[in-house]
Amino acid sequence: MAYTREEWNMAYVIAQPCIDHNERACLDVCPVDCITSEAADRKLYVDPDLCIDCGACADACPNDAAFRADKLPAEWAEFAWVDAAWYRDPAAARQVVEELAMAPVPSR
Ligand code: SF4
Ligand code: SF4
Repeated sequence: MAYTREEWNMAYVIAQPCIDHNERACLDVCPVDCITSEAADRKLYVDPDLCIDCGACADACPNDAAFRADKLPAEWAEFAWVDAAWYRDPAAARQVVEELAMAPVPSR
C-alpha cells in the first residue's frame, strides 16, 4: 500500500454505500465536475482540490453515500483518505476499496 492515513483537506467524501451501487446521480448535480471514477472502480471519488463543499451530491445520492468530511460516520473514516488518494494513485486506492468492501455494512 503506497499510502498511509494522513491529513487530507477533504470537503465531501463518498463512502461504503456507493460500492457497487454507483448509479451516478451525484455526477449530474456536481457543479464543478469533481466526482470521478474509471471502468475499474467500484465506487466514485471526490477530488479534494476541486470540491467546493456545496452538498449537492449528498442531497442527490439515493444511497446516503456522500458526506461532509466532518460528518463522515466514524466506521467509514478510511474513505476520506481513499477518495483523496485515488487522484494520486488509483490502483492503491482500489486495493483499499476492495478491503473496505468486505467489511460489514454498519446498521445506521
Ligand atoms: S449517487 Fe451516491 S451511490 Fe450513486 S454514484 Fe453517486 S455517491 Fe455513489
Ligand atoms: S459537495 Fe458539491 S462540489 Fe463537492 S463533490 Fe459534492 S456536488 Fe461536487
